Amino acid sequence: MLEFTYENRMPRVIFERGALRHLQREVELLGATRALVLSTPDQLPQAEMVAEKLGPRCAGVFAEAVMHVPIETARAARDEARRVGADCAVAIGGGSTIGLGKAIALESGLPILAIPTTYAGSEMTPIYGITEAGVKKTGKDPRVLPQTVLYDPELSATLPFALSVTSGINAIAHAAEGLYARDGNPIMDLLALEGIRALAQGLPRLKDQPDHTEGRDACLYGAWLCGTVLGNVGMALHHKLCHTLGGAFSLPHAETHTVILPHALAYNARAVPAVMRRIATAIGAEEAATGMWRLARSLGAPVALRDIGMRHEDLARAVELATTAAYPNPRPLEAAALRGLLERAYAGEPPG
Ligand code: NAD
Repeated sequence: MLEFTYENRMPRVIFERGALRHLQREVELLGATRALVLSTPDQLPQAEMVAEKLGPRCAGVFAEAVMHVPIETARAARDEARRVGADCAVAIGGGSTIGLGKAIALESGLPILAIPTTYAGSEMTPIYGITEAGVKKTGKDPRVLPQTVLYDPELSATLPFALSVTSGINAIAHAAEGLYARDGNPIMDLLALEGIRALAQGLPRLKDQPDHTEGRDACLYGAWLCGTVLGNVGMALHHKLCHTLGGAFSLPHAETHTVILPHALAYNARAVPAVMRRIATAIGAEEAATGMWRLARSLGAPVALRDIGMRHEDLARAVELATTAAYPNPRPLEAAALRGLLERAYAGEPPG
């Protein structure tokens, strides 16, 4: 039986090689005259390039974004926005930098113009996260959804291949879980399948040539679609597990998604076989979970939690944390089966 509710919540999107040339116009369209440019310390050169393109519309650069938006960094960025009289935030970078923009917007309502340089997809979501005393609290607020997104594949060409792969699989995870979301709808399904297909075809093209033009185009295009899915429908077991592992055991974000995804798909496979067939077709594999595991391995990505900082003695606690709060998932959460999932993921075994 087909039944759904569909609502459209999307930023204005410009996708173009060299899209930065539209920056002044886009900031103007926001009605802003004093933009605060945000980046990580590593991406300061890109932030400075953005500042230069903004010319007199740039009020300052704040290049202190770090992973998971610590409250101290959020406060410092909010203070800086007030100090320079910013009327918009321009975030150039990945989920960490866009997340910092969201922390500013959450308090002040300043519009965000996002220029994503990874495939994480935060630019398309109203979801924010701020870490206080070691605990990352996430929430949803329409004020933090960027108003404009400039996608320029040239800017992602410098993203190291290994990070491109894990970031791309992070994006595929949004789309995969969107396909079995309780509040899913046919439009999001189409975006999800096209997003998965684009990334599964684009990522291998970067292997020997990380700045491969069509490869970068395809991956960023896929990231946009997958990020849109994340922003519009609810996630399930995979995202919950990754959030738990990242938050409680400080595992790196994109790598954790990469290791867990095949196992989360295998866990849910029998509950949603038709979805798994669609994912398998989109990645060009016979079976979704094993296909994802093979894709990750063929691209040299990590497939074992033990290789990305997980300790075996913490697996029991991870299961406990992942099963304390109820959340929608196609298959009920069973502690013993989840322990099996994590054991296989820990050791880097194929999904079972
Ligand atoms: P990131 O933003 O932390 O970036 C990782 C590193 O790559 C940084 O050092 C960054 O400077 C560098 N980098 C980024 N783009 C580059 C480029 N083109 N060239 C060279 N270096 C580059 O990583 P991420 O995976 O994009 O984001 C992860 C964070 O985003 C996590 O905290 C996660 O929870 C959050 N996230 C939030 C949402 C949401 O909807 N709120 C969605 C996805 C991720």
